Amino acid sequence: MKDKKVRAQKVTCRQCSRCCKYFCVQIDEPETMEELDDYAWIIAHEGASIHIDGHEWYLYMKSRCKYLGENGTCGIYERRPAICRAHTPGECEINSDHELDYDDADTIITDMDKLYEFGRDYITGKSGDKQSEDCEDDDERQ
Ligand code: SF4
Ligand code: SF4
Repeated sequence: MKDKKVRAQKVTCRQCSRCCKYFCVQIDEPETMEELDDYAWIIAHEGASIHIDGHEWYLYMKSRCKYLGENGTCGIYERRPAICRAHTPGECEINSDHELDYDDADTIITDMDKLYEFGRDYITGKSGDKQSEDCEDDDERQ
């Protein structure tokens, strides 16, 4: 993820609610076209995108938390999950140069055609890398 400038103006969670309106999970980088095809199925769904940073792949899904109130507060604040507790306003991607801002990924893919195009090159490149590693291993054994 790219560096972000520290914001002078602090934004409160109630004003923002950004991290209650999506979820993002790391997924395996695809190694075959069949694996890529599974991601094509995922990305066909509204709100889904795939964010790629180096060799790290993430599934990003726009989806409002069902416990987020209309006033921007958490309806289950006292028993909110640990991942929500860990996200503190002063250190989040909006208010700091937090390194995990999924919107700053090297590549963001929102449609199937781009996924196939990017994925084909990515997988071909990966298999090229693997062959080079295998050759280096062979050289070392000689
Ligand atoms: S933690 Fe940061 S990004 Fe999340 S809702 Fe609060 S201000 Fe927004
Ligand atoms: S449980 Fe609460 S803090 Fe966590 S995403 Fe939902 S509304 Fe936000």
